[in-house]
Amino acid sequence: MTPVTTFAGRRVALFGLGGSGLATALALQAGGADLVAFDDDPASVGRAAGEGVPTAELREEDWSRLAALVLAPGVPLTHPAPHWTVERAKASGIEVIGDIELFCRERAKIAPDAPFVAITGTNGKSTTTALVAHLLREAGADVQMGGNIGTAILSLAPPGDERVHVIEMSSFQIDLTPSLAPSVGVLMNISPDHLDRHGSMERYAAIKERLVAGAETAIVVIDDAPSRAIYDRRAASGRPVVAIAEDMLPADGYHYEGSRVFATRGTTTRKVAELKGIGSLRGVHNAQNAAVALAVADALGAEEESVVAALATFPGLHHRMEEVGRIGTAVFVNDSKATNADSAEKALASFDDVFWILGGRPKEGGIAPLAAYFPRVAKAYLIGDAAPDFAATLEGAAPYLHCGTLDRAVSAAAADAAASGLDEPVILLSPACASYDQYPNFERRGDHFRDLVRALPGITLKG
Ligand code: ADP
Repeated sequence: MTPVTTFAGRRVALFGLGGSGLATALALQAGGADLVAFDDDPASVGRAAGEGVPTAELREEDWSRLAALVLAPGVPLTHPAPHWTVERAKASGIEVIGDIELFCRERAKIAPDAPFVAITGTNGKSTTTALVAHLLREAGADVQMGGNIGTAILSLAPPGDERVHVIEMSSFQIDLTPSLAPSVGVLMNISPDHLDRHGSMERYAAIKERLVAGAETAIVVIDDAPSRAIYDRRAASGRPVVAIAEDMLPADGYHYEGSRVFATRGTTTRKVAELKGIGSLRGVHNAQNAAVALAVADALGAEEESVVAALATFPGLHHRMEEVGRIGTAVFVNDSKATNADSAEKALASFDDVFWILGGRPKEGGIAPLAAYFPRVAKAYLIGDAAPDFAATLEGAAPYLHCGTLDRAVSAAAADAAASGLDEPVILLSPACASYDQYPNFERRGDHFRDLVRALPGITLKG
């Protein structure tokens, strides 16, 4: 844990006790803050109270006595409307901050030079965060990984000069971190997402830019227009920035072509890594993730040879094009995290002969944007609410089967793949849908797929 000492002896209110909120409360208490915590959900309040956190109805608090309101990132700060605690804090002139801000202040106080990598972007944050942590660990560093991925930041060990914090940040977290100044700040990409919670694309991009603007060294993928504009502004400021791009680079940086990653310094470009054959880094999107991770490791002075060698041992993350096992030449891939067409596109683009299991609760636009990939689909297996819509889109373009549930889809796809005679048939769960019609979340859907695959006769499990 990282005790938060910067509010010692001062009264602090915390709202939001699910997820990272409880860890934040414990860290504030451990650092000596006079804490009062609350949540709209009585179960969360009860759990926190059970852990010894002082809880009380914040509506009855004397807000004039508060030094700060600490907000969990899931609680609306601005859109669609500020939470009532935010309105109250503003009316009383009290700052509203999040757990990563508390970490930043602690770092500034106890170890201002401690290496701190902050990673944001619309897609690829978790994969890149996990990959950076893996590469640095393999290169011998003491790494703490968390934030929006896995462990809450204040549950990690405190910052120190010989310890690297690798932290995934959502836009909501950036919004709650006014003094964000990481040693390395990474922007992966920007595309419309959660605009209901950010107001507009401009505002969403402006929040992401804060992470880049505050970084000592910035690493920016410039493959989309908003990210490119952010890169240009940073470059114009004269402060260190590394470009990442597919194909052409405007300056020093890394670029990727297919499965290869290249580094450019001045007029010299050299190949740094070949990702072919690394199952956890399939697809061009993962070449982007790898290029970014290599740039981060370089910015922190890690030795290139061991970092590049460590790419091959990256285990990957569950539910993201995760190879579960094989039967003969057939590969079973769990991409349950693909809850929209954009994500499913990444998986379809990564394989040639796909026995595609898809469906669930559909998103707007369905799978129509994926039509260019239908020729790769040997057959589609439809589950959940989306089946009639998706069948209509696939009609005439790819064969499909109504399966209803995942168990029927897995056994039908496995049998068809085995009979296909193809070199490497891929049985891919990449639903392009939310899971809520049949599962509580995408993790449970992916776990179910994995269990079904594990039970197939003749399966050789991965890992
Ligand atoms: P995030 O944490 O930003 O949600 P993840 O690393 O969990 O991202 O990846 C989620 C999905 O996004 C993946 O399953 C894949 O489809 C897609 N993805 C991963 N990396 C990238 C990338 N660099 N660019 C675009 N899409 C990506």
